[in-house]
Formats: sequence, structure tokens, C-alpha cells
Amino acid sequence: MKIGCHLSSSGGYLAMGQTAVSIGANVFQFFTRNPRGGAAKPIDKADVAAFNEYAAANGIGPILAHAPYTLNAAGAEERVREFAEMTMADDLRRLELTPGALYNFHPGSHVGQGAEKGIELISSMLRRIFDNFGSTPSTTVLLETMAGKGSEVGRNFEELRAIMDLSGLNLGVCLDTCHIWDGGYDIVGNLDGVLEEFDRVIGLDKLKAIHLNDTMNTLAAHKDRHEKIGKGKIGLEAFERIVNHPKLRDLPFYLETPCDLQGYKEEIALLKGLQK
Ligand code: FE
Ligand code: FE
Ligand code: ZN
Repeated sequence: MKIGCHLSSSGGYLAMGQTAVSIGANVFQFFTRNPRGGAAKPIDKADVAAFNEYAAANGIGPILAHAPYTLNAAGAEERVREFAEMTMADDLRRLELTPGALYNFHPGSHVGQGAEKGIELISSMLRRIFDNFGSTPSTTVLLETMAGKGSEVGRNFEELRAIMDLSGLNLGVCLDTCHIWDGGYDIVGNLDGVLEEFDRVIGLDKLKAIHLNDTMNTLAAHKDRHEKIGKGKIGLEAFERIVNHPKLRDLPFYLETPCDLQGYKEEIALLKGLQK
């Protein structure tokens, strides 16, 4: 089972790898830079090289880099969109040092311009980044399924499919269990039906990662408040079905629950115990 959680990147790559192993994880997620800020720390190539060696030796991966929350490719102001483009391009360049990584981002918020306009802006930004990259990035870029809070784009499978189609790029999807539940997909009562819908609209071959989060909210609340596994409205039985589902069980699972390291260690053990 590939399972891990979100880790702090403040100590560098090797430290994240070692922390992952210490809590029983073999994958992890991290922010490429301050989630609410701008500039990234200069990359320490010796640290990345040491991590790559450690990851290979310990069977760690794929690692999932998460873009900052402030990245909004669908913003109304040009300054906001330029920041998004610059940030993602820079993140993808840095991720070439850890080949085969996943890069997940929130598609954006259209801030009143309408979902269609948002989808257009996001798709054209992705297109430009890939066109200017010089080669095909070794990283797989993932669109995250969103809860539909405010003017979030990606609140249903159709909007993600539209970004994939319009950009013409080979993008993947990161499915967040809290977000799709809050977005109105009943993964508790009808997991098979939701996955069939995902397959019909997007294609299950595009599903590359799962964010495992319980939620504080009722179905279709469009709120996005994560809860510890088994302590929220999704509940442990549903998570047992999720980690054992034949279409999901081999995907990497990343926890983003409100836990400290000890809490994550316990959730990882709990979920490993649930997978048969
Ligand atoms: Fe996210
Ligand atoms: Fe998430
Ligand atoms: Zn969330």
C-alpha cells in the first residue's frame, strides 16, 4: 500500500524522506514553497541528491508536490495570473531534480468571471507553461477535485475534464475525498457510482493520487473542512471501502487530516490495517 501524509518541507528533502519512514509512510506530500507566500527557498542540490538515493533505497515515492494556495490561474487581475504562471513554471523546473514526481494544484477561483472564463484562463496558462518548458516535464501535473467553496473551479468532474480538453495536455487528477463529498459526490452511500461517473466524465486512467481526508461537513455542503480519518461525516467504514476498492487500492494515498506526526503515524497504521 502506498500511503503517507503531508509533511513540512522546512528541513529539506532528505529530512522529509526520513520523517516519512519514521511514521510508516512510503509516500508524502509537501508544499513547494510557503502555501500563502511567494518566493521559494533556493534548492539544495546535495540535499535533493541525498534524498533521491534514500528514496530509492527505501522504496519511497511518488512524492506529491502541492502548489501554494495563493496560486490562482483564474484570477481577474493580470498580476495574480502572472504570479501563478511564474510559480508553477518555477516549481516544475525544480521538480526535474526529483524525476517522476506528481504536482498537484487547485485549479483556481474565477472570482465572479464565471466558471467558463476560469477554465479558459487555467487551460491557457498550462499550455503556455508547457510550451515554454523546452521539453516535456518529467512531473505529472494533477488537477485537484475541489469542494466548490466560493468561486472555485474544479467543483465537479466536468470542469476538470474541460481543463484537460481545452489545454490539450496530458494532465492527471488528484481526488480529495473531503472535497468531492463536500462537492456533492456520495462516496459513502455510492462509491461505485461515483467512480463510474469519474470514469465516464474523465477516465479512471487519469486518476493518479488520492487525498484521504474525512470531513466536518454534510454531503454537498461546499465547504472544505478536513477532519481526522473516522472522526467525520465520511467515517471509517467508507474509508475501508475506499482503500480496498479495486480501482483505488494501488494508487498513492496522501493524508491531509488535522494531525501532528504522531497522529499521522496512527492514521497510517489504521489504514494499512484496513487494507486486505
Ligand atoms: Fe489541496
Ligand atoms: Fe486536498
Ligand atoms: Zn481541502
